[in-house]
Parts: sequence; C-alpha cells; structure tokens
Amino acid sequence: MLKTTVAGSLPKPNWLAEPEKLWAPWKLEGDDLWRGQCDAALVWLKIQEDAGIDIASDGEQFRKHFVHGFLEYVDGIDWAKMTTMGIRDNRYDADVPTVTSKVKRRGPAHTKSTAFCREHAQNGLKITMPGPMTICDTIADEVYGKRADMAMAFAEILNEEALELQELGVDVIQLDEPAFNVFMNDVVEWGVAAVERAFQGVTVKKAVHICYGYGIEANNQWKETLGEEWRQYEQTFPALNASKSIDQVSLECAGSHVPHSLMSLLKDKDVLVGSVDVANKAVETPDQVAAVIRSAMQYVDPERIYPCTNCGLAPFPRDVAEGKLKALAAGAEIVRRELRS
Ligand code: ZN
Repeated sequence: MLKTTVAGSLPKPNWLAEPEKLWAPWKLEGDDLWRGQCDAALVWLKIQEDAGIDIASDGEQFRKHFVHGFLEYVDGIDWAKMTTMGIRDNRYDADVPTVTSKVKRRGPAHTKSTAFCREHAQNGLKITMPGPMTICDTIADEVYGKRADMAMAFAEILNEEALELQELGVDVIQLDEPAFNVFMNDVVEWGVAAVERAFQGVTVKKAVHICYGYGIEANNQWKETLGEEWRQYEQTFPALNASKSIDQVSLECAGSHVPHSLMSLLKDKDVLVGSVDVANKAVETPDQVAAVIRSAMQYVDPERIYPCTNCGLAPFPRDVAEGKLKALAAGAEIVRRELRS
C-alpha cells in the first residue's frame, strides 16, 4: 500500500551534462556517452532504492529532452529545419524540429537502455515516453495539417515501442502529457483516443502523467496566472477515468492550487499523487509529504494511492532531488504506519 514512485526525470551528474540546466548538451560522446549514461542510471537506481522508492525510473539519463529524446528515432522529421514555436499555447518559445514527411519508426528508442536498467533495478521499474498530444505540441508540422491526425501517427510508433518495452519486463509504461492541462477540449475530442492507440495490446500498468510543467521560470510565471483554484483536471479526468486503456493517472498536487477533491473524479484508477513540489528548491519534510497523502485519502482509497513527485526533478541540484526522494519515501512510510496501527 502507498507504493512510492517518481514522475520521471532526475538531474544529470555534472560529468554527464551541465547540472541545473534543462536539455543541456552531453559532455561525452560515442561509447563514452553510453557508458556514462549507464553509470548515471545506476547511481539513480541505487539512490531511489536506498531512499525507499518502490517503482524507480532511469531518471531519463539516456535522453537530453523528454520529447526529442524519443523523436530522434523517428523518420520523417527534419532536424536541420528548426522552427521557433510558441508551445503549450504560447507559454514559451522553443526551437523545435519539423515534420516534413509521414512519420515512421526507424528503430527502438529506449529498449537498449531499459534492458540495462531492468537488469540492475531491484524493485519496480517505470519507463516514461512523451504522449502523442505533447509530441505534437513540441514539433512543427508541414505534413498532416490536423494535430489529431499527426497524434495518431505518433501513437502508432509509441505503441510499437511500448510493446517491446513490455517484453523487457518493465512494470509501468507512462506517457507524459503536460499538454493535457493546456488543450482540455482536445483531450476529450482526440487526446485520450491517441493515448489508447499508443497503449493498444499493452498489459503492464499503463500510466498518464499530467502536470503543470517543470519548475522553470516560464512555468512558474504561468502558474501565477491560473488563479486561486487550478481546475484543468476537472475537464479531463472524467474522460481519463472512462478509458479502459489507462490504469494510473499521475497528477500535480503538493504546493499547487489544484483542489484535492478533483481526485475523486478518478474513482476507477490508481492515482499517482504529486507529493513533492518541483517549483521550489526547499526540500519537504516527511510530515509535509504525509499531509498531502492524508489529504488525498479523503478522496481516494489508500490501495489506489501511489505517492509520487509532481513532475520530473531534472532541473534541481542533485542534493535537492535526493532530499525530495527521501522525504517522499519517509512521508509515505509515516502514513503506512498510521494505517497499520
Ligand atoms: Zn511533468
């Protein structure tokens, strides 16, 4: 009960990439890069397991960017044709590659690294990939015309990858869909359908992570415009709860203005409750984490609660990320003990 897990990314060691910088270039190349990524993943698996995290991730040590790290393995994308695009409904500008012909999977993206992690992870292992809508919001389109059509094309590619990852023995496959908190009508119209296509035939736990973004300045400023209550989830959770293809929903909770009562809309799902904040560097106390979990228990049975991070911890200094992981596990243990007594 109250198994702990992470949303996905963790900081890169300073010998692999410049720390506290999202999407920093690699400091190694070729075989040295692969070896370095493996070493970094080993360190983070050990740190997560020592902290008491039940379902760990590779910390995304094998990819520079959570979307482009997957797209590098897709044909039909011109990386020389970078387009400056206002992404997440113009929240910030990003230089993104351009789809110039129908997309096709060139080969496996994450199977080699996941096989390595499966060999070394002692407990549960989660692998994350960008969701179809978020991919479409992070790439320029010269081919499909309609986002829903391009999303379905990427969903087919994600599905091929997911089926191979499942064979490797991962416990959870997660699609990251921060765009679900921006284009809420599209989620209902085609976003959930695209996720379902990506999960077709997948029998391990299938999760969707929906957050308000990394703790970077553009996101923190955007959050200030969202008002006293962040009710975006209210529009999308009913559609997610109705989907038979989704087992788990990961949401932002700690330090946010999300009304916790919205979790009651996920009555048929596991709920990955964001119990440590990614918008500030202050490390939570275990008691603060426990308070978030107890609050979630007003709306979700403890059997369905998985205490989690709000989002990836990649932009943080390493000691902050480590501290937050320890607090997360310790906070969950406090509540577990309360439930047993
Ligand atoms: Zn996130």
